[in-house]
Amino acid sequence: MKSIALTGIGKMGTIQAPDPLILDETDVIVKVTHVGVCGSDMHLYEEGHIGDNWVDYPFVVGHEGAGIVEQVGTGVRNVKPGDRIVIEPAQSCGKCDQCQAGRPHTCRNMVFLGSPGQAVGILSEKIVIPGHCCFLLPDNLSNERACLAEPLSISIWAVDLAGIKPDSNIAILGSGPIGMCVLLYARQRGVKNIYVTDKIDQRLEKSEKAGANWTGNPDKVDIVDIISKEEPLGLDCIFDCCGKQEAMDQAVELLKPGGKIMIVGIPEFDNWLFPTDKTRRKEMCIQNVRRQNDRLQKALDLIADGKVDTDQLVTHRFSFPRTNEAFDLVNDYRDGVMKALIEF
Ligand SMILES: [Zn+2]
Ligand SMILES: [Zn+2]
Repeated sequence: MKSIALTGIGKMGTIQAPDPLILDETDVIVKVTHVGVCGSDMHLYEEGHIGDNWVDYPFVVGHEGAGIVEQVGTGVRNVKPGDRIVIEPAQSCGKCDQCQAGRPHTCRNMVFLGSPGQAVGILSEKIVIPGHCCFLLPDNLSNERACLAEPLSISIWAVDLAGIKPDSNIAILGSGPIGMCVLLYARQRGVKNIYVTDKIDQRLEKSEKAGANWTGNPDKVDIVDIISKEEPLGLDCIFDCCGKQEAMDQAVELLKPGGKIMIVGIPEFDNWLFPTDKTRRKEMCIQNVRRQNDRLQKALDLIADGKVDTDQLVTHRFSFPRTNEAFDLVNDYRDGVMKALIEF
């Protein structure tokens, strides 16, 4: 079968890989139909690593996807050949202290698809995954639409973890796919007062259409000055969805005492800088968000029920052999790209 692998910094190509086999009774072979290109893939594509996870070339990435079940091991009960599914890329052990404490997303033995040193990704014609990583799609939800459930699940977890209420004043700094999903889910939860910033105006237009009540480009306006005038008491919660120090600096200024900064973005640098004085005086809570905890089914339900419209995120579609074009497009933030999908 064919896979598409990273072959060097900013390079990818088609490789021939052996067809996957059922080796365990819980294994499922899935024919991949759609893969979403994620910002975290860009770190691996352009930088060759995320934190201390370095790529060993050639390496297949991709973790947001859907497919059709082709074959199942004898112990698989939840899906059967022919079923359409969305893929849960995180495989936790179920046994460690974190899993036992209801935190499978910080499992000590985590195996994440498309994560170097853990497991190959899903940019392949076929993959093998455990049955519990297959989530059945309802008849009214296409494989393409289901691809957005994984990024939405991360935003659902971020918003749930933030504990915001309908009357909370919030900001979302960075309006890429994850920031947009935070906006869509916060709106669905009834939050009305939402400020959104991004350096790409097309993304701000999308955010405004999706219900942000103020948007601003920090390259063009002083967002701290403007939002502070609107919200003199400060904001209850700020979501960093871009992983940039300048956004964090703005968040520290804009947060109200006792407020929460949620770090959802993945920075390219190794250390955040926080002013000790302001963070202390405001008794700030700075909360990291690690992927998501058990929110994939909820994301699927919200999309299928039409309660969260993630279709508006999909701006580009590429055939499987053109995957490298999709990666270059997303990496360069070209052509108003939000979410690019690979179709098999
Ligand atoms: Zn992703
Ligand atoms: Zn575990």
